[in-house]
Amino acid sequence: MAVYSVTILADTLEQVTALADRDLDLHRRAARRRPTTDDYAVPALLTDEQIDRLREDGYRVEVHENADQVAMERSADVSPDVDRFSPDPPEETADRDRETPPQATMDGPRSATTALEQLMDLSDADERPDGPARSADGSDRAVFGGYLTPGEVESAVSVLAANHPELASASPLPEPSWEGRTSHVLRLRAGTGEPRPGVLITGGVHAREWGGSDICVAFATNLLRAYSTGSSLQYGSKTFSAADVHAVLDHLDVFVVADVNPDGKAYSQSIDPGSPQRFWWRKNRRREGLPGSAVGVDVNRNFDFLWASGIGTSADPAQLVYKGPAAFSEPESRNVRWLLDTYEDIGYFVDVHSYGELLLYSWGDDENQIATPDQNFLNPAFDGKRGVVGDSVYREYIPAADRDAVVQLADEMNAALGQVRGTQYTVEQAVGLYPTSATSDDYAYSRHRGDPNRRKVLGFTIEFGQQFVPPYGEMRGVMADVAAALTALCRRAATT
Ligand SMILES: [Zn+2]
Repeated sequence: MAVYSVTILADTLEQVTALADRDLDLHRRAARRRPTTDDYAVPALLTDEQIDRLREDGYRVEVHENADQVAMERSADVSPDVDRFSPDPPEETADRDRETPPQATMDGPRSATTALEQLMDLSDADERPDGPARSADGSDRAVFGGYLTPGEVESAVSVLAANHPELASASPLPEPSWEGRTSHVLRLRAGTGEPRPGVLITGGVHAREWGGSDICVAFATNLLRAYSTGSSLQYGSKTFSAADVHAVLDHLDVFVVADVNPDGKAYSQSIDPGSPQRFWWRKNRRREGLPGSAVGVDVNRNFDFLWASGIGTSADPAQLVYKGPAAFSEPESRNVRWLLDTYEDIGYFVDVHSYGELLLYSWGDDENQIATPDQNFLNPAFDGKRGVVGDSVYREYIPAADRDAVVQLADEMNAALGQVRGTQYTVEQAVGLYPTSATSDDYAYSRHRGDPNRRKVLGFTIEFGQQFVPPYGEMRGVMADVAAALTALCRRAATT
């Protein structure tokens, strides 16, 4: 059954809300009211049958493209099944190195660091909207082009730690995934000694949002290279001075987990013409304890923030937003919790997702308000009343100073992002049209409210790009945009 990328159009907020009960693959965070026509637009992936049924029920559906075709095209953007960053180049390649100058050829030999740095060099990202040229036989892909596989993400992380021992270390996260993969956290800091504020950046939580990992690796690679060479850091037209780069690593602990859900990504990337729909996988790969053929928990609906409320989540294992059998039932979400528990000085958290060109701040469960402190997620008097957009029965309390702080930080990220190649994201509260619970960003920000001994963590979600998996040429521009935003956040955190 073919799947199409569509936009569902609705006239009322009630119709938008009702879509959530229909077992559809909606891209809720990118749902919008269209200012020009006043109707609501909800991006989605739907089968013919689902499209017909919606039309019968009075929705309008714009069909954009065949999603299976997109899946097959993008699968060509997965790097070939070789490790581009393995420290020892194959013998044959090494021999060729002696005959030709390294600069003269794209597919020539280079050290693991150089290969990684070359792939992640986004200084000219604003000049190559179509991506790097490829030779007819595709040989240049050995370095250029192609999303990282879960194995390559791990290999990139270990190469960075090995090549920058003074600045970077890699540690395994405590829990392997359901399929036994271990992701490493990369910790970036210069010098030793005194505790300092921490920034935690995560990517790859949702399987089909491949580029989150590439963004994280690009961010770390370029920061380390600039620091170790004492140079400025260039993303398109945005420059961070050498002093900015030094400030970040001298005054912060930056933790990067590029691939929170490697099982999901491996599955999404393993498509063939017979199974194009694997590409659109969102969840992890849990099978244990799930009925029938159900697989997977939505890792970003498994955190302990109003988990029991069911707001924007499902208790049905067959659903895309299945929240799991319990809060923190999944090793992937527990690993994120472990980082926040273990590195108590983490004060900033960014979870990188796609798509929608959004910079989102808390809360996600209901609209914010600054006037009534007891309308808050901890108060059981309001159980069952949260999660309705547009009403005044309940709104989630956020102290005005926190709201101002997150908006200001998001605006600063957006300003840096905009300088790379002129793209502007939208800064807004995470709740949007579809309230959610049990997400990573709200969990991070909520922790200190339940336990005053914990440090306050300002949490953000970035929804990069205009589709889940942009063509890789476009993705390079997106990587530069978001890496600049992350660097701007660190720059601010380092001086606050
Ligand atoms: Zn996501």
